Amino acid sequence: NSGSDYEEDRGRVRVAVRLRPKNAEDIILDSDFADCVELQPELKRLKLRKNNWTSESYRFDEVFTETASQKRVYEVVAKPVVESVLNGYSGTVMAYGQTGTGKTYTLGKLGKDDASERGIMARALEDILASVSASDCVEVSYFQLYMECIQDLLAPEKINIPINEDPKTGEISLPGASVVKVQNLDQFSQLLQIGEANRHAANTKLNTESSRSHAILMVYIRRSVHEKVEDGITSWEKVPRTTLSGSNAIPLIRKSKLLIVDLAGSERIDKSGSEGHLLEEAKFINLSLTSLGKCINALAENSPHIPLRDSKLTRLLRDSFGGSARTSLIITIGPSARHYAETTSSVMFGQRAI
Ligand code: ADP
Ligand code: MG
Repeated sequence: NSGSDYEEDRGRVRVAVRLRPKNAEDIILDSDFADCVELQPELKRLKLRKNNWTSESYRFDEVFTETASQKRVYEVVAKPVVESVLNGYSGTVMAYGQTGTGKTYTLGKLGKDDASERGIMARALEDILASVSASDCVEVSYFQLYMECIQDLLAPEKINIPINEDPKTGEISLPGASVVKVQNLDQFSQLLQIGEANRHAANTKLNTESSRSHAILMVYIRRSVHEKVEDGITSWEKVPRTTLSGSNAIPLIRKSKLLIVDLAGSERIDKSGSEGHLLEEAKFINLSLTSLGKCINALAENSPHIPLRDSKLTRLLRDSFGGSARTSLIITIGPSARHYAETTSSVMFGQRAI
């Protein structure tokens, strides 16, 4: 199954849940508790057990057990979005969950020693680079969003990058952010590594954890096409063919964009216990994740108004979310009963799309 359930379904966020395998800490600290998560992947169902007597059952578009491979997760969650992006529609893949549950593993793992461990970013770029032709162009930007400030992770001296929205096309761009042409997977891996190092350094300087910021990879694709414009595709541009003298043919450049978003940790920040900077940080994270939840909800309810302007996170998604775009959300959870409350809250966030 290559994710056929995900096909033909724009205008709604598809949601999968992925359970992280137990780690050493879970094994030691949970020895007295039963697991609180039970998965029924064939029914695409997840059960959360509160105690021996009560459990709630939730349905998702897909449920991945702790043995699901990176390849399978990519194929089900991200590949349909990538294919759609290659066909000229924009799209978004996001990971939401408590810190330590596998968001970065799922999206950003490079798998340098073992290609089977590669995450969604590397696999998406691999597929994209294999599909485009020499005349097409693939570029990436990589930045973090921290306390409503956008910082370029490929040129960390660039902080406070504005979000520009084209009044005619609604297209979102980041004036001044680095845009790097990608030619092969090795080069892309190096870019990601540089970005990760810069993220780490920036957060050390700010005295915060990288789990407090959102990391966003933007992949811009421009392809020359010679077919006719299809209905519903808005991201087309007519460009005069200047290189072919004597020809009146007007080729089309098809532009699309893929966003891969490693969201800030969803754990409830204890606002009562924090003060000063930490309190401000908590407010901003809550603002962006709450406004994302509202947008997902509005889309699921077919609401005519998707409140995308409420936070920078959702403003960035504006042209790659809903409408003709395709969006996948992966909720990452841990198995431990110790984190029952956080796990429940992540599961409920995912349910907002369904
Ligand atoms: P997050 O980004 O949500 O904070 P990480 O991706 O950093 O979490 O994962 C925390 C730890 O768990 C890492 O050491 C990571 O390698 C490991 N991990 C997460 N998910 C998996 C998985 N599905 N299989 C194996 N290891 C995992
Ligand atoms: Mg992470």
